[in-house]
Amino acid sequence: MRAKLVVGNWKMNGNLVQNQELLTAIIPGSEGLRDIICAVCVPYPYLPAVQLALKDTHIFWGAQNVSQFDLGAYTGEVAVEMLLDFDCRYVIVGHSERRSLFGEDNHTVAEKFKKAQSAGLIPILCVGETLAQREIGETERVIEEQLDAVIKLTGANSLTQSVIAYEPVWAIGTGRTATPAQAQSVHAFIRSKIAKQNTEVAANVQILYGGSVKAGNASDLFAMPDIDGGLIGGASLNANEFISICSAAQ
Ligand code: PEP
Repeated sequence: MRAKLVVGNWKMNGNLVQNQELLTAIIPGSEGLRDIICAVCVPYPYLPAVQLALKDTHIFWGAQNVSQFDLGAYTGEVAVEMLLDFDCRYVIVGHSERRSLFGEDNHTVAEKFKKAQSAGLIPILCVGETLAQREIGETERVIEEQLDAVIKLTGANSLTQSVIAYEPVWAIGTGRTATPAQAQSVHAFIRSKIAKQNTEVAANVQILYGGSVKAGNASDLFAMPDIDGGLIGGASLNANEFISICSAAQ
C-alpha cells in the first residue's frame, strides 16, 4: 500500500520572518494528520532555519534543485553533501521551471536524479508536457522520454527509492488544473510503463500530481487510484490551504 505524500514547493518565495510564520501555522495543523507524509521543499538559504523549525515535527523538508556534480569548482552550485548537512530527505529534480528557464535537459535531470539518489536523498522527479505538446497528442511520448532518460542512467529499479511528480506545464501556476480523469490517465500510463520493467517497483512508486492543486480540488484528484498525493506550489505558501490539501490526502 502506497502512503500518500504531499510536498510543498515554495519556489523562490519567502524570507526568514515569513517562513517562520508559515511553519508556525503549519506545524500544529500537521499534528492531527494520520497516514500521510508531508514535506516542504524550500530555497537553499533557508534550509538551516527550516531544519531547526521542523526537526521535532512530522513534516519533512528538502530542496528544489541540486547539482549533478561532485564537490569542486562549480561556482553557484549546491552539492548533495550540502543538502545532507541539513538533513534534507527530498530534492526536486527536473521541475518544469528548471527545464524551461534554466535549460535543464532530460540527461542533466537524469544525472541530478542519480546523484541525489546515490547520496541517500529521495529525488522527486518532475515530468510533464506543455500545452502545445498535449494539443498535438504528444503527452505520452514526452513523458516517456523524460522517464527513459532516468531509467537508462539508473535502471528502472532505482525508481523504488524515488517519487515521480506528473506536472502538466500548462497547469503550473496557471490556476488551470488537469481534471482528475486527465491526471489519472497520465499517472496510469506512467505506472504501466514502469510495470513493463518491474511490476513491484511500479506498484510501490509514489506518483504525485502537481499543477494548481488547491484545497477545493485536492480531494477529487487524490481519490484517483494512481494519484498518490501532490506537489503543491502557490497553495503551499498559505498555511490553511496547505493543511487542507494535506488533510484531503488522508
Ligand atoms: C509547482 O511549482 O510544482 C506547482 C505545481 O505549482 P502550482 O501549484 O502553483 O501550480
